[in-house]
Formats: sequence, C-alpha cells, structure tokens
Amino acid sequence: KDNNPGINNKTTSEMVFIRNNYRGSGKLTNKIAFITGGDSGIGRAIALHFAREGANIAILYHPSENKDANITKELIEDEGRECFLIGGDLLDPSTPRRATQAVIKRFNKLDILVNNAGIQHPQEDFTKVKSKDWEETFKINVFGTFHMVQEALKHLKEGGCIIITASVVAYQGNGHLIDYSSSKGALISFTRSLSASLAQKNIRVNAVAPGPIWTPLVASTFPDQKKEDFGKNTPMQRGGQPWEVATAFVFLASEDSSYITGQVIHPNGGVIINA
Ligand code: NAD
Repeated sequence: KDNNPGINNKTTSEMVFIRNNYRGSGKLTNKIAFITGGDSGIGRAIALHFAREGANIAILYHPSENKDANITKELIEDEGRECFLIGGDLLDPSTPRRATQAVIKRFNKLDILVNNAGIQHPQEDFTKVKSKDWEETFKINVFGTFHMVQEALKHLKEGGCIIITASVVAYQGNGHLIDYSSSKGALISFTRSLSASLAQKNIRVNAVAPGPIWTPLVASTFPDQKKEDFGKNTPMQRGGQPWEVATAFVFLASEDSSYITGQVIHPNGGVIINA
C-alpha cells in the first residue's frame, strides 16, 4: 500500500504516485471527484491520494494519449474506491458536456472538479510557431478548462470546489514553451476571477502551479532530457515526484482549506514566485 503503485515501463516505474506510508484520514469520504487527465502522471497521483482519502473517482482521459488508464483504475479499485473512466478529447468542445453528464449518471452528484489535463508544443524559434499548435494548446488547456467548469457548475453545490493545474512557467516564463506558459498564465487569471464570482456560493476555486515533475508529458516532449538533470536549476536541485504535487490537491479539496479561494499553491522545489 505504499510507494510506487507499479507500472511496468521504465518511464513510469521511476515515478512515485503516492506518498510513502500515506494512510489518508477520510478527508474526502463520500465525495465524488472528477479529474481530467487523471489517468497519468500528476493526475494519477491526485486520483490515488483522493481515493485513499475516501473519494470515488471519475477520470477523463485521452485514449490515444495514454494506455495507462486501466492501470490507474485498478490502482484506485485496490484502494476500495470506485473509478469511472471516460475516454474523450478536450479538443472537441462537446466532450465536457458528454463526460460530465456521464459522471452525474453514474454517481448522481459532483463535489470536486480537477482540471488537470494539459499539453504543450515546444518550439526552438518563435517566428516559426504554427498558429495551429497554439490553437490546440489553448483549446485543450484553456477552453477545455472553461467548458469543464461551465458543465461542472450545473452540478457543484455549496461546499464544492474546483482546482486547476497551472505551472511554474506561468510566472517564470519559458522560451521554449511559449504557448504552454501563456495558457497556464491564463489559467491563473481564470482561477482568481472565477473564485471571486463563486465565493458567495461557497464554491472554492484554487490552482496548483507545479515546478518540474518527472511524468510521461516531460519524458515524451523532451526525449533528450535526462531524469537526473531534471529540476537541477531549482533551489532544491531536483525534480519533484507526482505525489509531491498531489498532496497540495488533497489540501485544497478538503475542509482543511475551507477559507482559501482564489489562491495558488507552488510545489516547485523552492522557486520564489512574484505573484
Ligand atoms: P501527463 O502526460 O502524464 O498527463 C497529461 C494528461 O492530459 C494525460 O492524462 C492525458 O490523458 C490528458 N490529455 C492530454 N491531451 C488531452 C486531450 N486532448 N483531451 C483529454 N485529455 C487530454 O502529464 P503531467 O505532467 O502529469 O501533466 C498533468 C498536468 O500538470 C498538465 O496540465 C501539465 O501542464 C501540468 N504540469 C506538469 C508539470 C511537469 O513538470 N510534469 C509541471 C507543471 C504543470
């Protein structure tokens, strides 16, 4: 029940999805959490920690992006919780409605929405960036979140919450990930503005802005990146593990953070953020 719920390929077997000896204390008992991109990387770690805290889990994943969804489902079921998998592409604006309706049909309610799915199109030379790539990044990262939130708000009740996966590059910038960092910057502003509009309904909206975390996204986007060098430029001089981000999501999803909305948590190895 600890360590690294094991996956058989090298990339993932180097990742720790749940904190060693993490027991959970029922912080999310009876909650239904819907996590986009919950099949893989950071999303899987969030799903496993939520499950160990007592939540049942729905996951939207991109079927052709990732083959690990069924493994994630098994890991959640090993925790004694339900896992409902919904394949779908956030490039298609009808996906959020279809997926959310499926979640409601299955569980009859929704308590927590985690907008975690994200993509990037790295580039060397900004003058050669294709508008199609920017559109795709914004359609998935920003519009995908926008549509997911609109659908979720039809069902979230007082006490519900929304958490968005942003990134340290929203603040620091990154010359090779201009599409991505811009989209994550938009999500930070979205988090702040949306939180203001929902505060009186007691629906909290917060974001988590991870630093470098070794996941399939990183391994596939930067094939030359060596794991041992990843994150060396942070004050902690190492990359983070998926679980080191997921615990921030547990805090934001639980009553422990009941007076916190419109904020960003920064699991980033010590990078100081000028908000
Ligand atoms: P990952 O590749 O393991 O996960 C990305 C997820 O997004 C996948 O589960 C996939 O199913 C989903 N997805 C991708 N395209 C989709 C689409 N078109 N429709 C529906 N789902 C789609 O990568 P990860 O690193 O775990 O990334 C998770 C989130 O964390 C992303 O938003 C990413 O931007 C963010 N993030 C990652 C890092 C890092 O260093 N890994 C740092 C900061 C932020």
